[in-house]
Amino acid sequence: MLERNLGYWTERAATLRPEGRAFIAGEFVNAVSAATYENRNPATGAVINLVASCDQLDVDAAVVAARTSFESGVWSRITPTERKKTLLKLAELIERDSEDLALLESLDMGKPVSVAFGYELPELVEYVRWFSEAIDKLYDEVAPAGEGNLALIRREPIGVVGAVVPWNFPLDMAIWKTIPALAAGNSVVLKPAEQSPLTALKLAELVKEAGIPDGVFNVVPGFGSAVGRPMGLHMDIDCIAFTGSTEVGKMFLGYSASSNMKLVWLECGGKSPNIVFADTENLDAAAEAAAKVFYNQGEICSSPTRLLVERSIKDVFVTKVVAHAAAYRPRDPLHPESMMGAMVDGNHANRVMEFIEAGKKQARLLLGGNRLTINGSENFIEPTIFDEVQNDHVIARDEIFGPVLAIIAFDTEEEAVRIANDTVYGLMASVFTSNLSRAHRVSNALKAGTVAVNAVDMISPLVPFGGVKQSGNGRDNSLHAFEKYTSLKTTWIKY
Ligand code: NAP
Ligand code: MG
Repeated sequence: MLERNLGYWTERAATLRPEGRAFIAGEFVNAVSAATYENRNPATGAVINLVASCDQLDVDAAVVAARTSFESGVWSRITPTERKKTLLKLAELIERDSEDLALLESLDMGKPVSVAFGYELPELVEYVRWFSEAIDKLYDEVAPAGEGNLALIRREPIGVVGAVVPWNFPLDMAIWKTIPALAAGNSVVLKPAEQSPLTALKLAELVKEAGIPDGVFNVVPGFGSAVGRPMGLHMDIDCIAFTGSTEVGKMFLGYSASSNMKLVWLECGGKSPNIVFADTENLDAAAEAAAKVFYNQGEICSSPTRLLVERSIKDVFVTKVVAHAAAYRPRDPLHPESMMGAMVDGNHANRVMEFIEAGKKQARLLLGGNRLTINGSENFIEPTIFDEVQNDHVIARDEIFGPVLAIIAFDTEEEAVRIANDTVYGLMASVFTSNLSRAHRVSNALKAGTVAVNAVDMISPLVPFGGVKQSGNGRDNSLHAFEKYTSLKTTWIKY
């Protein structure tokens, strides 16, 4: 049996020649300005490749390609069954190239390759299949308009969809935004994060091989101000689907208001509460789940970063969480047993360390708190746990997006719910209890797009994902995702 060990991944990484050019109208092209930037591997500091540093001119070219393909009908007006077949082919190609995709993701943003390969890629293949299969099973409506009238209510593709995504799950986010949009018949312009363009560009290669017509899928790499902003302000983009920080999400609302009132769908930040009641049946399982806050280096919007524990079990429970945190000792992301890789870059690692320093001034450091150097890179941070946190401490209010857990004690259910909801965010929440009434009562009271009971961070193509309050609007995943990428057309026929 093939053993994917450190040597295997290291050798394979050395043979990769990642694409760094933009993908516009079915071709890989340099930026019009010919500018490039150095794309680095955060786990070693080495330059992986030069990536096109695009700007307004490249965005314009991509939008023209997208618009032309959309209006021609080569994709937008073929039958949903034909689109399904092509997208299923794409799923097959993603599966075929899973190793390369996982490795590119790991090299680009520091996550453990075996997590990407063993867990994320198989899920993504299923995700693409799920949306491909869904599209020719959706029926439109006929209104009860009475004799002599036929009122048809149909869902049409919107047109040109701009997708702007972050670096924490580069391929997941690219797929979440573009596959439902493509399935519905739109043409797409995708901007990956500056730190992590490689899997989006590899996806473009597979899109072409699958037979999606030229111009339907475009990728424009570059910086937020040079590419994201002109997309947000573009007069010929009909919709922006954004995942990223709340700060930049707000900018997209502004861009829309000052341009063409394009639709803006936002999946933004989070500071998710995880409430553990003393009546929890399996405290070990709850502690293992709580330690998942360190998954993906803690760079997850929906991560359960505020652990609210009932005071009577706090010490016992916290000891268990600390024990489970050991599994996330930072290691070389290419090591097959690594569960925690490098922070995405030095700037972000600095920012996370600033939060840790702020935490040390206000709360009690229980575990970690240090930066580590591995393979010459200083971008590794230990799993860090703070006890005796108050909900008004900096580390309980701001999204850190790193491996930092804040523990807050509570005495009553009412107090737990109040603390949990005392945040500007509302993406995800968790409750651990064996009391069924309490599970329902607390789930109903929590202000979040998703509440997981006796589990954390439950995400699947089967159910909607997204937030309330300043975590954003709209929903990815499930059939509801199509609501973002279609508009309702009424055709009223008198006869
Ligand atoms: P970010 O700074 O908001 O960036 C997201 C995207 O927006 C990137 O492609 C970025 O380009 C672009 N951008 C930056 N400044 C821009 C501007 N002025 N105008 C237009 N576009 C601009 O977020 P990030 O640091 O990459 O990712 C971390 C954030 O994403 C966290 O807040 C996290 O909660 C959020 N997130 C949310 C979800 C969710 O589903 N709710 C999922 C994952 C991540 P550059 O790369 O060039 O800066
Ligand atoms: Mg990178």
